[in-house]
Amino acid sequence: KEWFFQKNILVLGLAKSGLAAARLLKQLGANVTVNEARDLNGSAQEEKLQQLNIPLISGGHPLYLVDESLDYVVKNPGIRYDNPIVKAALEQGLPVVTEIELADVICEGDILAISGSNGKTTTTTLIHEMLHESGKSSYLAGNIGKVACEVAEIVKKDDVMVTEVSSFQLKGTEEFHPRTAVLLNIFDAHLDYHGGREDYEMSKGKIFKNMNGRDSAVYNAEDSVVTQLAQKSDATLIPFSVHGVVTDGAYVKDDVIYFRGDDIMTVQEAALPGKHNQENMLAAIAAAMIHGADKSAVRNVLMHFHGIEHRLQFAGSLYGRKIYNDSKATNILSTQKAIEAFKEPVVLLAGGLDRGNVFDELIPSLKNVKAAVFYGETKDKLAKAAESAGITLIETTETLDEAVQYAYPYTEEGDVLLLSPACASWDQFKTFEERGAAYLKAVEKIRSNVKSDL
Ligand code: ADP
Repeated sequence: KEWFFQKNILVLGLAKSGLAAARLLKQLGANVTVNEARDLNGSAQEEKLQQLNIPLISGGHPLYLVDESLDYVVKNPGIRYDNPIVKAALEQGLPVVTEIELADVICEGDILAISGSNGKTTTTTLIHEMLHESGKSSYLAGNIGKVACEVAEIVKKDDVMVTEVSSFQLKGTEEFHPRTAVLLNIFDAHLDYHGGREDYEMSKGKIFKNMNGRDSAVYNAEDSVVTQLAQKSDATLIPFSVHGVVTDGAYVKDDVIYFRGDDIMTVQEAALPGKHNQENMLAAIAAAMIHGADKSAVRNVLMHFHGIEHRLQFAGSLYGRKIYNDSKATNILSTQKAIEAFKEPVVLLAGGLDRGNVFDELIPSLKNVKAAVFYGETKDKLAKAAESAGITLIETTETLDEAVQYAYPYTEEGDVLLLSPACASWDQFKTFEERGAAYLKAVEKIRSNVKSDL
């Protein structure tokens, strides 16, 4: 903490995390300057920084900010490494870190960090809930809720902070040292940012880099890249597997979930559907129980946790149909996982921004889909894939609202009505959250229309 005192620090990028980092560094006595590409003259953010006595340079990234007096750069994870300021700072040999590095420096309690291409938010939330339910003092940070360095300020010695960390954040770490790290999976993602698979894997591997034998590396034994990264670390290894027994880890065998040989519950007792969620549950059980969560609390959480909003979330029943909102599924892989999560017949709603994808990879998982309605820019491409999968009941519409109205007549009691778009929302919505809300609104419209017909 003392290290930051009177240091000259540039905070690059003023999103939520930039503001939190700047405020924290100022408190620690640093001379902070914030730089933001967008022009923020006259904005509320500018005013806020003025109140904190932090200078803001906005509307570009002028290179003069990287001068000889600069000691440290805290970069927003989204800012790429080919940004001129980042390049100049690295050329000068300056540390360029992300906000999670600061969180680690100031956090007095243990950090549990969760990473992976998919499943981070779900697993992070499960761990936090399990610890909380066991009476532990656990704080949730990261994507949902508050920025890690903001939360870290209030975490005391016997508390824990559970936070998800992206590959963008991890790439900008040097000393980051969680007490327990979870790595779920590594798929091809964000390869443009990382400039290739090697850098992406290296960044994910940094979650384990500074760990020692007192720490725990919880890793997916079914993912060979994840396994290799974990095995390179000095941490105590805690594997998990959905395909049978692993020594000293968490696993599913004959539909029963075990941790270190002790049976926790059956897969059917858990509220979350799908093999992918079994991975998340196993990882969460291992991480939470290492930190003292008890079995009854773990069971309780898993029996009642229906998912996080917009992430294959069970959103209630509609005249016997199960409504699932998976608006967060902005790529093909997520939609595959969602469809495969159900034994029941699925009526699928998908579509959105056209990124030039063909949807051939979706074809094998469409076999469980009895009818599909596609909307938005990608509707025709998706319809083509569905045809190739042998689905006969296919409709295309312009909007999601219409799609829901078209889809409902295809559903019967016991079916799943699933929004899992396989595309980003930006052709028609600002965010995937807005899209999920529009879906649920359209579902409610059906509820009231059907009622008035009865
Ligand atoms: P993240 O925070 O990593 O984006 P989420 O927990 O928000 O992950 O889940 C996002 C989507 O990713 C889910 O809706 C689901 O479709 C998919 N997903 C979740 N967990 C996994 C997993 N373990 N493996 C593969 N896909 C997953």
